[in-house]
Amino acid sequence: MDIIDGNQVAASIIAELKAEVGTFSGRKPCIALVRVGDDPASVSYVKKKQVTAAEIGMESRLLLQPATITQDELCAVIDGLNADETVDGILVQSPLPKGIAEVAVFRRIAAHKDVDGFHTLNLGKLAQEDETGFVACTPAGIMELLQRAGVKLTGKHVVVLGRSLIVGKPAALLAMQRKEWANATVTVCHSQTANLPSITRQADVLIAAIGKAEFVTAEMVKPGAVVIDVGVNRVPDATRKTGYRLTGDVHFPTVSPLCSKITPVPGGVGPMTVAMLMKNTVKAYRQNQLTPR
Ligand code: NAP
Repeated sequence: MDIIDGNQVAASIIAELKAEVGTFSGRKPCIALVRVGDDPASVSYVKKKQVTAAEIGMESRLLLQPATITQDELCAVIDGLNADETVDGILVQSPLPKGIAEVAVFRRIAAHKDVDGFHTLNLGKLAQEDETGFVACTPAGIMELLQRAGVKLTGKHVVVLGRSLIVGKPAALLAMQRKEWANATVTVCHSQTANLPSITRQADVLIAAIGKAEFVTAEMVKPGAVVIDVGVNRVPDATRKTGYRLTGDVHFPTVSPLCSKITPVPGGVGPMTVAMLMKNTVKAYRQNQLTPR
């Protein structure tokens, strides 16, 4: 069994981006990071994005907004960033406070600055296999991990557990694309799927993105399968200083001995998400330089 090291792959992508950005003269790519409220996970995710941007030599701009912000006020912040020619990419950290319609916020971001890939136009471009669009960072990171780990999907049965806009749906669309590394036969499962283990056992590649700690157990996995664990779950653990440990959607101790390859949590898909966000921002910068709006 091989462990797919997301930290290592993400570090390679970051080094490649640093080299690329180093060749840009004048203004560097800039990502605006909008954080609403003080959710501890959001604070740490946004911090990681700032640090990674700095490491690459990109600019990042942090916009902190109170949790009491209204939909209209948040839209006004986004409108300002849309109009700012020195901003290439905009990321609004989710989750947003209750009362804010997240999808409406995602749609407000100008599609050519939507480096998170959740705008209707970018999701449409993904379905149309239009390379000018932005693909959501976590599913894009999954595909990059598979590719760099030498896992070719052509003709394979990929089972995606979860149908969210952020992970499951785009991951399924990517796996079925008519591309050299894709061309998979895809099944998508969700909370209403009947006989789930009988489907997951057919997977050559199983992508678990449901947000349920250690849900995927050995009897749900075909021996020799590749398992990508997207889940990030906090499980109480009195032996840790923090009082919790992070675990994926897969029960690693029993599933990993069965697999040909598996991603760990942490250190698998997580670091890829940030690396792909930076990759999307550099792409936005290049495209926006070519087509000034
Ligand atoms: P989500 O929006 O809550 O979606 C969860 C999906 O799983 C839904 O489609 C749901 O089905 C399905 N599901 C829930 N319980 C199930 C069950 N018992 N059997 C089968 N399907 C079930 O979650 P998400 O945003 O996609 O995130 C999923 C996980 O990935 C979370 O742990 C999250 O923290 C993690 N994540 C990690 C990263 C990263 O960078 N590593 C990025 C994003 C998310 P229904 O549609 O029927 O409700």
